[in-house]
Amino acid sequence: MQHPIRALPARLASAALLVCGVLAGAAHAAEYPAKPINMVVPFAAGGPTDNVARSLAEAMRPALGQTVVVENKAGAGGTIGTATVARAQPDGYQVLLMHIGFSTAPSLYKNPNYDPFESFEPIGLVVDVPMTVIARSDFPPNNIQELVSYVKDNKDKVSLANAGIGAASHLCGTMLTSALGVDLLTVPYGGTAPAMNDLLGRQVDMLCDQTTNTTQHINGGKVKAYAVTSKERVPTLPDLPTMDESGFKDFEVGIWHGMWVPKGTPKPVVDKLVDALQKGLADPKFQERMKGLGATVLTDRANPDALTAQVKQQVPQWAELFKKAGIEPQ
Ligand code: ASP
Repeated sequence: MQHPIRALPARLASAALLVCGVLAGAAHAAEYPAKPINMVVPFAAGGPTDNVARSLAEAMRPALGQTVVVENKAGAGGTIGTATVARAQPDGYQVLLMHIGFSTAPSLYKNPNYDPFESFEPIGLVVDVPMTVIARSDFPPNNIQELVSYVKDNKDKVSLANAGIGAASHLCGTMLTSALGVDLLTVPYGGTAPAMNDLLGRQVDMLCDQTTNTTQHINGGKVKAYAVTSKERVPTLPDLPTMDESGFKDFEVGIWHGMWVPKGTPKPVVDKLVDALQKGLADPKFQERMKGLGATVLTDRANPDALTAQVKQQVPQWAELFKKAGIEPQ
């Protein structure tokens, strides 16, 4: 065994190193951000989450004094990009923009490769986005009542696109097919941007997707739209009935989005991002863009406590709902 007195210099040296490390970390945090920040979107470019991220990246830039670069890391319903940020250096240069799937994936995958409570420091809530039930422009049903009977009569033929298990489109599609009591052929994509391309190209029949991706196609008459999943109608899509109005009682889902950084990110860095997020959400240009896409900006919940509360409430809620519906994690 080493004599305690002889071991002391080594201990002192490592304590000194630790202090230096902490001081260097604090100095880095004080300079933050000293270079561009990567905002990871766990879905394909050009889709709903990407649309929010690109507007937000621009809106956060003045407060940060640095560019925010959006990086698309698609796959496995958003869990690949989410897990990448969970494993990144906790220095504030890798920021995650994800949605409700953050809290559903832990019940849908045996191992999503992140822990919703342990892997991240929350920054805040961002926006809430309704979903729309849509189909290719030449899909025969013209309203939701016709859709219900058409899908039941043609369940072996109808295909439903989604962005993979854990995506919002998967969640909404699952709610829809279980409400209809049918199993449809699902076609997974790396995001709903490529899913929308195939819907516009008539390679798939149906999609349940966020208004941040569907508004222009619905209003441009490029797709058929049946209903929105919000409690109230969406002002930018005034003719579209809610699911509730259409006879699907209590079929309501909003796609909340949040921002996170890896666990262990220094508090001054987190504070700086919270400040930049709040200033970004208050930017009139950002607000205008989101309004035009049917999204609600969650200005008063853009803080770590509100996001922590959201995740705490949502993870067990979805776990229970999936269990009741007999959906097993895979
Ligand atoms: N938000 C995803 C995307 O940006 C789609 C989804 O979650 O369904 O593509």
